[in-house]
Amino acid sequence: MVADYFLTLAAIYAAMLILYFGFGLMAEAYAARFPDRKIQPERDGMKRKRAEILNSLPALAMSSFLLGTGYFAQTQGWTMAPADLGVVSFVLSFVVSLILFDAWFYFGHRLLHWSPMYRYHALHHKSVAPTVWSNDSSGVVDTFIEHSFYLVVWFILPVPALAIFALRLFDQISGMIGHSGFEFFASPTSRRPWPFICTTFHDLHHSKFNYNYGNIFSIWDRLLGTAHPQYDDMVKEFEEKAAR
Ligand SMILES: [Zn+2]
Ligand SMILES: [Zn+2]
Repeated sequence: MVADYFLTLAAIYAAMLILYFGFGLMAEAYAARFPDRKIQPERDGMKRKRAEILNSLPALAMSSFLLGTGYFAQTQGWTMAPADLGVVSFVLSFVVSLILFDAWFYFGHRLLHWSPMYRYHALHHKSVAPTVWSNDSSGVVDTFIEHSFYLVVWFILPVPALAIFALRLFDQISGMIGHSGFEFFASPTSRRPWPFICTTFHDLHHSKFNYNYGNIFSIWDRLLGTAHPQYDDMVKEFEEKAAR
């Protein structure tokens, strides 16, 4: 059983590394062709690429430990019994988990901005102009707080495992896009009154600091008054730029 546990963790870590480097290299090559889509043209975030990648290796290991431990607990029958996998149970589990994870991330992230806790989050904010490599450039305590949802969810919801793996996949890709520093997703649905966001949203968290703590939806930032006041106008500008 112990060997199975470590094999599970190793397989998940390997998958996360393949996704991080595979998607990162693709996104970097694609964005390089569109310099006018850069959100902070005056800054060169890629100067920190090597440091960001090195910081990401232990953070992704922590993330793998959390997801893998939760999943392993479910395979051993230590959690809530999962619903049978079907289209309805998959979609419902994915959507409910996504909404809960967005809230978990928002409040965990705000906690990390509270001065006694900020030292655990400071590493992530060394990236003022984030890049596709910045998403996981975080300390292990930071990652533990924001990603502990992936350990807990199995104990509070009867989720089929595939739905949580799909959530982690979506979260990794959307997080990397959200840090990429290039805007390709500006649209009317990424601004008021819609709850969706585009890359500019979390980019503003890095450049302006005390705004936009979410990185999936804008719901909590809008409800609690932490959405950046210029965000919606910046999205419109990118929409107009894309239409030209
Ligand atoms: Zn932050
Ligand atoms: Zn960030």
